Amino acid sequence: MFSPDMTTFLAGGTGTPKLLAGAGDVFDPADTTVVCNTGDDVEFGGLFVSPDIDTVLFDGGGVLDREFWWGIEGDTTTTHDELERLADAAGIPEGPRYLDADAQTSGRDISRWRRFSGAREFMTFGDEDRAVHVLRTSLLDEGESLTEVTRTLADAFDVPYDVVPMSDDPVATLIHVEERADPMHFQEYWVGERAAPTVADVEFRGADAATAATAAVDAIREGPVVVGPSNPVTSLGPMLALDALREALDETRVVAVSPFVEDDVFSGPAADLMAGTGREASTRGVADAYDFADAFVLDAADGTDLDRPVVRTDTRMDDDEDAERVARACRDALAEVGA
Ligand code: GDP
Repeated sequence: MFSPDMTTFLAGGTGTPKLLAGAGDVFDPADTTVVCNTGDDVEFGGLFVSPDIDTVLFDGGGVLDREFWWGIEGDTTTTHDELERLADAAGIPEGPRYLDADAQTSGRDISRWRRFSGAREFMTFGDEDRAVHVLRTSLLDEGESLTEVTRTLADAFDVPYDVVPMSDDPVATLIHVEERADPMHFQEYWVGERAAPTVADVEFRGADAATAATAAVDAIREGPVVVGPSNPVTSLGPMLALDALREALDETRVVAVSPFVEDDVFSGPAADLMAGTGREASTRGVADAYDFADAFVLDAADGTDLDRPVVRTDTRMDDDEDAERVARACRDALAEVGA
């Protein structure tokens, strides 16, 4: 049953977590569900890592390292450093070291097309952070779904809202680049290469066969949806590639916060990814990509003229007070479209 009090946030790894950090007085956490992108997920040395889920868990649990918007504040990197020392001592060439093609599609299903050797981790995992990956992987191997494991971890971190993945099936965001024949996983493109390669296309491998998580679809059907400032290609793209999720979004009230001020992006690779996939890298390009959105929150300095209702405010979020202001604008925009 639809209730305007039940709100679902769609999250990547930076923008929506920033918004959630200050949204609690506007959207009651007890009535809030956060659906996380899992296209960025990756496996290193057999450990399954869900970066966007983890940022939401650590944010909600009050332990996120807010300087980087990933990892746990004050975490140590003893295991990561020792892995590097051993790999150096053994003369193992630098990574990323993809497992071979057979290994990419055998074993644990959820890790398909994104398996890396742990011999050279090109992402840094803190020691406490790694404990989360060990627990997640172990519970997955015991037979729990990613939805169940995510909720277990959310309980462990005392997160006040429900956190669920977009799917319990593998969907891997692969970036096709001009510089080489084989696509690179999003994490190699972004963390390993700092978005230097030229984007030719973006593929969500597995999305055609994947089913959206029931909890995610049910939450979207239950009440209005807030799309925090997100990367439309690699954070929302994998979700929109899931038919049931897209259909649910078409049928509910949605407000989206622009990650741009006209054609200036706040941070990250969204502009390059939009240009590389034939979109306009701007607020207008975001609105075109989000045909399911009923209203938008734009920055006060963003004069883009859209065909849907717009609420303007200062959308830069440097602290929780900023986030609360943007959350109120989201609430106002939803009210304008009857939610
Ligand atoms: P990722 O998972 O870290 O790649 O990122 P997200 O999908 O969460 O996207 C973050 C997007 O939010 C980027 O495109 C930024 O331009 C945008 N962003 C980051 N900080 C802010 C902010 O304070 N305000 C707004 N409006 N957008 C932001």
